[in-house]
Parts: sequence; C-alpha cells; structure tokens
Amino acid sequence: SDVLEIKGLCARVEEKEILKGVDLTIHTGEVHAIMGPNGTGKSTLSSCIMGSPRYQITSGEILLNGENILPLAVDERARKGLFLAYQYPAEVSGVTNSDFIRAAMKAQTGKNPTLFKFIKDYDKACMELKMPEDLAHRYLNEGFSGGEKKRNEILQMKMLKPKFAILDEIDSGLDVDALRIVGENVYSMVNESFGCLLITHYERLLDYIKPDFVHVMINGKIVKTGGPELIAKIDAEGYDWVKKELGIED
Ligand code: ADP
Ligand code: MG
Ligand code: MG
Repeated sequence: SDVLEIKGLCARVEEKEILKGVDLTIHTGEVHAIMGPNGTGKSTLSSCIMGSPRYQITSGEILLNGENILPLAVDERARKGLFLAYQYPAEVSGVTNSDFIRAAMKAQTGKNPTLFKFIKDYDKACMELKMPEDLAHRYLNEGFSGGEKKRNEILQMKMLKPKFAILDEIDSGLDVDALRIVGENVYSMVNESFGCLLITHYERLLDYIKPDFVHVMINGKIVKTGGPELIAKIDAEGYDWVKKELGIED
C-alpha cells in the first residue's frame, strides 16, 4: 500500500498564517474526512498537498511513500498519483472536456492513451456519472451547472485513477440525486490502491462514502480525530463542543 504523510505543516498566504501544524497520515484503502468551520484552512490544506504555488509552506513536511514531495510542482505531484478536485473548478474556454482529460492522462503517464480505449473509458465514466452525452465536446466547465462541474471533477478522477484523491467540498451545490451518484462513484473507487481525503461540511455525503477516520479542523490545525460517530455529533451540535472540550477560544 501507499502512504501520504503530512507532518507539522504550517503554511501562509500573503503573510497570513493559515495552517498551524497539520498532522495527517493517509494510507491507500482508507477514507478520511475533514470537517471544520468555514475559513479554518481546509481548502488551504488541499492546495498545499497538491502544490499550489500561491501558498507558502513555512515548516513541516509532506511525504509520499517516504519521499518529500514539497519541492515538486503540481504536475509532478499529479504524476506521483495525487489528485485534487477543486472546490471551485475553473472554466477553460477553447479546450474541450475530453481533450483536457486526455492531455492530463498523457501528462500523468507520459504516453497518450489510444483513442479507442480513451473513448470507451470516457463514455463508461460519463454514463456511470449520468453526465450529458455532449459533454466530451463542450469546453471545459464552460456553461456547466455547479453540479455538472463537480461531477466533472469526479469524471477526471475516474479517468486518471490517482493513488490519493482530495475532494474539496465535492458535495456543495449538488442535489440529492447528484450527491448519491457522486458518492457512489467515489466510494466504488476505494480499494487497496486508492485512498481518499474528503472535505465536507455536511453529513449527507457521508451517507454514501463511509469514512474510516473523521478529523475536525479548527484554526488551521486538526484538533480531534475519531470515527464516523463524530459526523452525526457535528451535524447536530456544530463545533462549539469541540472548542469547549479543547479550550479553544474564538
Ligand atoms: P476553508 O476551506 O476551511 O473554508 P480556506 O483554506 O479557504 O478555509 O481559508 C482559510 C483562510 O485563509 C481564510 O481566512 C481565507 O480568507 C484565507 N485565504 C485563503 N486563500 C486565500 C488567498 N488566496 N488570499 C488571501 N487569503 C486567503
Ligand atoms: Mg469554505
Ligand atoms: Mg474551502
């Protein structure tokens, strides 16, 4: 199995300290969920794992199978098997959806998938996600509804088959049917060579994807880790009890 380790990660954006010592270890075969109030650094953590140059890592480590990946650029981390589904997927005009995914697959493996196999896999993934049939030929995310953009991130993930996927609020903007489709598609990928970090506000997604570990992030740190029982408690009571229990001031 593979292992992604985050150790004492501190990061800032524009002089503001956002991550204040994040520790997290994920093995393939595991599903981890991170929950936490808005503005607590969840998307920042995702971006730092993927290598966004916007964030400055001030201390700590990110190791993939023991190798320090901090010096690697986003595309190099993708080649190593990391994938991030963005909270706000970008629209790209002039690049069709299928061309984009094909280019990403080539970038990841160094060779072009054959057109025949690509189309076969792409159509299958589209069908499983119940995406519209003309999707392949439309420009990347342009004119897509919020829910279609989110499903499109999962489509990319299914095609790229990463070792570790980080899904940042993949459930926001999804109606109940889309939520079930996305949830089932993600959960069906979990196996001994795929692990997942889910960032979510809500219990709903976790009806379909059963996390092995649930982490609570507050003020740039993981302050509590437990099992699925934490989800229901947070859904019912919010985060105040965690803050109180740990003596965290607002
Ligand atoms: P979450 O995903 O938990 O809601 P974020 O990681 O998006 O939190 O944001 C954490 C904090 O960092 C927030 O206070 C946010 O305003 C700030 N922040 C995030 N990205 C940027 C940025 N690019 N420029 C300035 N501030 C940012
Ligand atoms: Mg947010
Ligand atoms: Mg966020």
